[in-house]
Amino acid sequence: MNLEAKKIRLIMELRQSWISDTSVLSAIELTPREMFLPEALHDRAYENVALPIDCGQTISQPLVVGVMTQALRMEERMRVLEVGTGSGYQTAILSRLCRRVYTIERYKRLMAQAEKRFAELGLTNITTRVGDGSKGWPEQAPIARILVTAAAADVPPALADQLEEGGIMIVPVGDEYGNQQVLRITRTADGFDHEELLPVRFVPLVEGEPDSGSD
Ligand code: SAH
Repeated sequence: MNLEAKKIRLIMELRQSWISDTSVLSAIELTPREMFLPEALHDRAYENVALPIDCGQTISQPLVVGVMTQALRMEERMRVLEVGTGSGYQTAILSRLCRRVYTIERYKRLMAQAEKRFAELGLTNITTRVGDGSKGWPEQAPIARILVTAAAADVPPALADQLEEGGIMIVPVGDEYGNQQVLRITRTADGFDHEELLPVRFVPLVEGEPDSGSD
């Protein structure tokens, strides 16, 4: 089966399972996942699994990307903060659903590869930063939506602070052994509402800079 046929099969699988939002499905359909993978894994691009990328990190599973994107309830005019750019795959999907994506990655090397892919795809509404995303992006706060694609032990307080009232944050929370839940946090007038969405297994959110030489 060629890649295009595998892609159509994957989209149908997503539609039949959890993803009912057609704008999310079409953003996934418009984003060639093979471009975000090492060459040797291109033929596996439309398997519904997480796959390894550089720097010991992973590109998320398409189903998880779909569920988290849908749970974010984005609107076209919104600005969205993403923590953990990785391959840039999730970033590219977000960029088709909102006004601007601010994305932070701790590995320079991953960010350089992701930026090249955004340029090749003509995605011009993405602003990037290399650094510790657990501190958020204070210059852009308050922000309507935050998506974290690495697992935190607890909801990072700086990110909760930077969420606007009525704003939504999607964040996997749990330990590094994979006992993690994706949470949807909604900021209300007097605090935060929490909902558990699905169990997942993400690489950990790591505070601080990578060791020198590892990026
Ligand atoms: N959505 C990405 C997932 C990448 S894995 C994709 O589909 O490709 C999670 C990423 O979060 C990794 O690249 C990791 O380096 C990054 N990360 C972990 N802790 C971070 C932090 N504190 N700040 C920024 N990025 C972080």
